[in-house]
Order: sequence, then structure tokens, then C-alpha cells
Amino acid sequence: MCAEDRLPNGGEFTFRELVWERLEQEADLLLRDLFPICRSLTGEGVRQTLRQLKAVANFEMHEVPSGTKCFDWVVPDEWNVRDAFIADLTGERLVDFRRSNLHLASYSVPFDGVVSFEELDTHLHSLPALPEAIPYRTTYYNRDWGFCLAHRQRETLDRNADYRVVIDATLQPGGLTYGECLLPGTSGEEYLVSSYCCHPSLANDNLSGVILWTLLLRELQSRPHRHAYRFILVPETIGAIAYLSLHTEEMRRVSGGLIPTTVAGPGKFGFKRTYLGDHRIDRVIELTLREQRLDYVAYPFDINGSDETQYSAPFFRIPIGTISKDKYYEYPFYHTSLDNLEFISAGGLIDSLKLYMLTIEKLELDVQYESQNPYSEPMLGKRGLYPPTGGSIKQSAVDPSKSHHDRTYSIGGDNVAYGSELDAIRWVMFTADGSTGLLEVAETSGLPVRQLYDTAENLRRHGLLQRTAGQGR
Ligand code: ZN
Repeated sequence: MCAEDRLPNGGEFTFRELVWERLEQEADLLLRDLFPICRSLTGEGVRQTLRQLKAVANFEMHEVPSGTKCFDWVVPDEWNVRDAFIADLTGERLVDFRRSNLHLASYSVPFDGVVSFEELDTHLHSLPALPEAIPYRTTYYNRDWGFCLAHRQRETLDRNADYRVVIDATLQPGGLTYGECLLPGTSGEEYLVSSYCCHPSLANDNLSGVILWTLLLRELQSRPHRHAYRFILVPETIGAIAYLSLHTEEMRRVSGGLIPTTVAGPGKFGFKRTYLGDHRIDRVIELTLREQRLDYVAYPFDINGSDETQYSAPFFRIPIGTISKDKYYEYPFYHTSLDNLEFISAGGLIDSLKLYMLTIEKLELDVQYESQNPYSEPMLGKRGLYPPTGGSIKQSAVDPSKSHHDRTYSIGGDNVAYGSELDAIRWVMFTADGSTGLLEVAETSGLPVRQLYDTAENLRRHGLLQRTAGQGR
């Protein structure tokens, strides 16, 4: 065991030292703190959310002024709400924004007046199929107002009465707020991690993704890595488009990316592929799920989704993958008040975080080696790498208890079984032609990337391998 391997933030990329229980408690507190905030495309709720997250991970907040032209779009006016309600004429509030921010359609224009039921009804949204749920609705680019309420409550409204409607809001020039952190690397490759912060009190979609983004950023910030990472937290669609238009050349150079969204539900993990379907991003996610032996729902690329359609647009073509836990569109509570803190769990969020970390770990460990003995197999025995008595088939390498590394790679109790060490040595030596990465070796051999990396580094210390130049530290 080399001393530097044991340093938590030393020269090697690993998440081994993390205490998952502590992360789960932290995620739970963040969920509770941030859930009640009214977020939208713009406004103080987004700023407040980002400010609170900045206490967890270090990133910058930027503002794009309203009216800024972004390709075919324009950054809208900023929307802020002080209060909004529907009351009867005695003043009793029947539908109250202060009770749930989902009651007011996002970007509703200011209004104060008395309206008949007939008129009010044209501004109401409810879900007959889910009569207890308040739906989530927006009216971003259509200057209108709307209220959302449980269908059961809608049916109790007196059809012959008039109602007082108040929307004490402002919709005026301001800014679109986003978060950004660039982590420089040494490999010449850059990966994007983007999530969206524009949804009000909805837990899985997408407060869970926002918190995962923040924790993932902090963990990457605190350890050395080969690749560069671009973390951005934007309002969906217009935020991603604004970001692309402000960083056109930089974004063209991004190799691939991940969009953490809807990551904390009670159901299965889901994996939505990149538009290419077989990009390195697809391969590292697939291997992660395979190594964890997880049952998951496979989603091919679909034109409907999150911001991957912006990042993968013809000019940019960044392949983006998503791991989710109860993916958007797929659960019945999607975009309703039932997507709340009772529906999701901090434990589910942290399980997803593990998968994102293991995915990034594979990007980091996908190193290429050059054999220093490419003419035939090296003699392992004289280096103490081979069992002393030959002859048996598929022998394991020397005493596992004296092995250079632990036999299993544990990440928060999710053990990945290591295969035969001798197999790992032979595969790594056999493929060390200077251009084959460990990801490909793992796919071919069935051995975990982490094991192959540990083995390769051990062989490197024995002088049998060299890292191919130009891959970063
Ligand atoms: Zn959504």
C-alpha cells in the first residue's frame, strides 16, 4: 500500500472516504430548507435557493439581463410574487399562494379585481384524474394569469358567486439568475454537469436534482481530477439557451455531459441515453449500473426531455445522459403537489448521487497504458505477482490478504465484486497498446474498472506499464 493512496484527497481519484450517512442527513436538511421556496425562470426565489446552496458548494452566481437576445429567444422579464389568492366576497381566502406556491401559475401577470365564476373558471387548472393534487402550470410567454387547485376543491366553488382575485406580483425588467463553477482539468477533455432550478415546491422534479448537483460539485471540488468539469445550474430551456449563447465556443468543446434530474423517488433507477446512444457517457453509465447489478428502466434518447435537446442541438452536439430515480413524465405525481417531501427520500437522492459519482469515477479512471514489455507476457513470478506453484487453471494471484488493494471496492456499502486478480493483470497487460482505455478493457473482460485501474497502477509501480502521455495526471 502506497502512503499517498490512503490520503482522502491525495493523488488518486476515489470517493472511498465518504460517509454516506452524513451526506444523507445533509441532503435531508437541504430538501426541507429549500422545498418551500417559490422558484421560477427568474426572481428572488431562484437567488435565495442559489445563495443557500453556495453555503454547501462553491460556485458563482451570474445574472443575464431581461431583454438579452439568446439565439432565437429573449430573456424574459423578472417575476416576483408577494401574495396571491382567490377569496369569496366576505374576504375568506379559498385558494392561497401562501399555503402552496403551486396555486399560482408561474409568471401570472398582476391582477386585482372581482370576477364572476364563469370568468374565473377559464383561469383555473385542476386534474380530474388526480382530484387531491394541485397541478403545476406555467404561463411564461403568454401574458395571462391562472390558479391551480385540487379538482375536489374546484367542484365546491359556488357557480353563482363572484370572486375577488388578487395577484400581487411584479413582472418587469430584471435578470435571469444562474449558477456556474468551472473545475479545470489536465486531460484536455471537459464534461458538463447541468441541472435546472426553475421549479417551485416540487421535490423530485427537480429539487432533488438541484441538491444532487450541489453535493456532486462539492465532492469533485475537494479531490484531484484529470478532466475539466463545467457545472451549471440554470432555469430549464431559456437558461440553457442563454448559457449556450453566452459561451458558444467553450460549449462547442465540451466532450459530453450529465443532467441530474428527478433523482430521489421511491421507484426504479432510470437511464436515458445520449442522442448517440453509444457515446462514452452511455458506456460509463451502463457499466456503473452493471457493476452495481441494478435493475433499472432503460430509456432511449427522446426528443422530449430536459435541456439535453439544447446542449445536443446541431451546432453543439454534446451527448448528454441522465440517471434518474422515478424519471420525469413517468410517475403519476409528476408536476403536481403530490411530488412532495413525502414522495421522495434523502436516501434515494444519495443512492443516485453514488451512481453519478461512480459514473464520473469511470470517466476519470479510463486511462490508457503502454506496456513496457510488449513482446510477450511479462514474467509475473519474479516480481511476486504470480502464485508460486503453477499448473492449476484460473489461479488467483498471490495471497489476497497481502494484495495491494482491498478485494472489493466499497462505496457506501454497495460492494462491487472484484474478479480474479490474475485475470485483471493479464487483461491489463494484454490491452496495454497505448490506445486502449480501461473502460474498453472492463467491457471486454467483465472486470470492474476500479479493479483494472488498481491493478494497472500496481503494474506501473512494478515498471511493467507506463501511462500513455497526454491524459492528464
Ligand atoms: Zn418539470
